Amino acid sequence: MQVSAGKIVVLGTGGTIAGKAGVAGDNIGYVAGQVGVQDLLEAVPGLAQAAQGPLVVEQVAQIDSKNMEFAVWAALAHRCRAHLADDSVRAIVVTHGTDTLEETAWFLHSVLDARKPVVLTCAMRPATAIAPDGPQNLLDALAVANAPGARGVVSVCAGAVHGARQVQKVHPYRVDAFSSGEGGPLGWVEEGRVRLAQDWPQAQAGWAQSALEKIAAGAPWPRVEIVMNYAGASGSTVDALVRDGVQGLVVAATGNGTLHHALQAALERAQQAGVAVRVTTRCPLGQVLALPWAEAALPLASGLIPVKARVSLLLELLGAQPPAR
Ligand code: ASP
Repeated sequence: MQVSAGKIVVLGTGGTIAGKAGVAGDNIGYVAGQVGVQDLLEAVPGLAQAAQGPLVVEQVAQIDSKNMEFAVWAALAHRCRAHLADDSVRAIVVTHGTDTLEETAWFLHSVLDARKPVVLTCAMRPATAIAPDGPQNLLDALAVANAPGARGVVSVCAGAVHGARQVQKVHPYRVDAFSSGEGGPLGWVEEGRVRLAQDWPQAQAGWAQSALEKIAAGAPWPRVEIVMNYAGASGSTVDALVRDGVQGLVVAATGNGTLHHALQAALERAQQAGVAVRVTTRCPLGQVLALPWAEAALPLASGLIPVKARVSLLLELLGAQPPAR
């Protein structure tokens, strides 16, 4: 049944969804990013009906997303931007590895004004598995792409729909590997229908569009690293990174942004030397609360998990103005 005008573009980047193992029963000993996205789609029964219209396929990359690179992000964002601007395209689906999906989702949310759905999907089992999860995730991604009113950068895995800000990989093996934390998912896909629990995301989408333009014009990506607080932490890693020319540092602090005094001192030294420092928490839920009565020596990273705070700081150092939260 063809019910929608416009085409859906599927951009392949690799991942376990495109992975191959030597033995069909092997769910972990495989190589990611082996099967072309066209072949992946052709292997899914019922995909043409689920698409509800023409599908266009592009292979943007073919990598294990543990090896995600800035060049792939830039290429992916540029293809998304071109397709979002094309009136004949109604939605984009991106096949991606699970390892860095949350970073790519936040990057795309930040650099794209996605008034159409951009749906990232993935798999925890390779395409060669006895019971691969990729085919159902692809069908569910198409259901989200076709859902009335869908917009923004979202991801779909194991029947749950997550927003770019909240999504996080929380399990290294289970098929249901993602969580949106305390707020729960945006909704669920059930037998090809989306049941929403929250509205589609749009707030602050595209705040870093200017950074994408700078990258296209040849600006180098800044160097931003993540450090962590833990028992016995010292400032030596931070001092070494500053000597090595780091431009930004995100710290995964303990609890409500607390830091070992030696690490705190090193981060303040780094900040005085011109390095941009942002404080997040290593706690998986919640966000650091600022003390209302005191100016913090180090700025907070507006409620993002460390890897997403790093994406935001990269974009900020490329000149984008981060949204206030
Ligand atoms: N290492 C894989 C990747 O991120 C894992 C996966 O896709 O599940 O590409």
